[in-house]
Amino acid sequence: MTLATETAPAVDTFDSLDPATGQVLSSHPVHTPEQVREAVARAHDAAAQWRAQGWDGRRRHLRAWKGEIARRLVELADLVHRENGKPHADAVLEVTLAVDHIQWAARSAPKVLGRRRVRSGLMAANQSAYLEYQPLGVVGVIGPWNYPVFTPMGSIAYALAAGNAVVFKPSEHTPAVGEWLAQAWRTAVPELADVLQVVTGLGATGAALTRAGVDKIAFTGSSATGRKVMASCAEDLVPVLMECGGKDAMIVDDDADVAAAADAALWGAMSNAGQTCIGIERVYATDRVYDAFVRELTSQAATLRAGSDRDASYGPMTMPGQVDVVRRHIAAALGSGGRALTGGGVDGAWVEPTVLVDVPEDNVAVREETFGPTVTVARVRDAEEALSRANATSYGLAGAVFTRSRKRGLELAARMRSGMTSVNSVIAFASVPSLPFGGVGESGFGRIHGEDGLKEFTRAKAITAQRFALPTPLLSFRRHPQVTERLATVVGLVHGRR
Ligand code: NDP
Repeated sequence: MTLATETAPAVDTFDSLDPATGQVLSSHPVHTPEQVREAVARAHDAAAQWRAQGWDGRRRHLRAWKGEIARRLVELADLVHRENGKPHADAVLEVTLAVDHIQWAARSAPKVLGRRRVRSGLMAANQSAYLEYQPLGVVGVIGPWNYPVFTPMGSIAYALAAGNAVVFKPSEHTPAVGEWLAQAWRTAVPELADVLQVVTGLGATGAALTRAGVDKIAFTGSSATGRKVMASCAEDLVPVLMECGGKDAMIVDDDADVAAAADAALWGAMSNAGQTCIGIERVYATDRVYDAFVRELTSQAATLRAGSDRDASYGPMTMPGQVDVVRRHIAAALGSGGRALTGGGVDGAWVEPTVLVDVPEDNVAVREETFGPTVTVARVRDAEEALSRANATSYGLAGAVFTRSRKRGLELAARMRSGMTSVNSVIAFASVPSLPFGGVGESGFGRIHGEDGLKEFTRAKAITAQRFALPTPLLSFRRHPQVTERLATVVGLVHGRR
């Protein structure tokens, strides 16, 4: 149950707005620090029950939740479309990916986290050694608005599958989507309703969650807010997972399929109105392909259109404040010798598809996260120069490489300073549930998705069980002096060989 139905009603409410029209869609309670603490306390009780379900029970309940979401997918996608502004079809895709992650996490958790025997080694040959990954307890998830289902699900589904209860604070721009997910949980798993709860409010509610007695915070949002969350968590040594922003680059090499690279660059840069943490914000094309690439990119960009109808390529900017950032970056690019080959215009929440060239590398439009439907394209000598420019950023979330050589592509991808890179596509790694998702540098640390994403919400537990007593024990005051002398000889023989 959400707090609003269980405790005294919250005194304050806030509105969720349709970003296309500015109209109020729904009102939500601003949960107080006290109410957030109560939710976390209930989650601790629920966590014990959830843990007692065992792998099979948890998998069954997660499957029921997944089924509830899948059956009502169009309803949820419609809510995402209205609250976030993205086209309905993109919302369907987002929910589909999230459902796939619930499935993978629920199915893989026993194998990845369950108890297994490991080698005990020479020194402990008389011991059986076991490793298992135990749940932390209650995980607080703080999410953004740009992918209000897919992004928090990378923490929620994996934390639940690992045996934790979750208290989720959605962004103030997409609270209804967060409440929908918790309501779907209560419908699917009514007997364990408090295993997934949602608290709503503004930034202060998120801050309260960090101090409410959770065992970990999984934060997704801007690097600036991430710093505040970490500082707050430091007070009680609460561990944190940080999924922050990015300034991802695409490298287009000499032998790239230019039309495919342009198509992918546009999708990476402008789908979801460019409000994608792993979106492409910079392209480095080699001298040999630059002209053809820019021609192709601008002609394809000319076919895109912002709007809220079903045929629109992307929607309005979700957050009014972000429009100012986009406007500032475009103005800075144009004011420093850059040119807009398409777009450049900003009208209210609507930003034209904007391709920028000749922008100096030290410009804010190249260095800081823009989070709008814009992309800068720069000419470079070769892929090596492209790589060094791509890596010259404090962020390091994702990126892409286009080349016809698989070998060269993999090599460049491995050397890109980022948590994820796709060769000859964009964003593909996010749809592979077994691959970890996360960044380096200012893009954060820790991983969601995949085996690492499951382990992120656990603590490793080591257990030994003695199989037989050694005739000459090592870890005992009864140890004979000759034993250590013999040990020294054996170690010299085994490890000291030249
Ligand atoms: P914000 O950093 O503004 O907010 C993120 C979340 O933190 C929101 O729920 C917000 O609540 C909450 N919050 C705000 N202040 C505090 C506080 N003091 N303590 C605790 N929580 C707080 O990010 P956005 O929502 O604007 O999301 C966009 C950013 O997220 C971009 O930088 C994007 O790159 C990044 N992102 C990263 C992803 C990744 O996986 N690496 C994925 C998706 C987005 P409220 O909204 O109510 O203010």
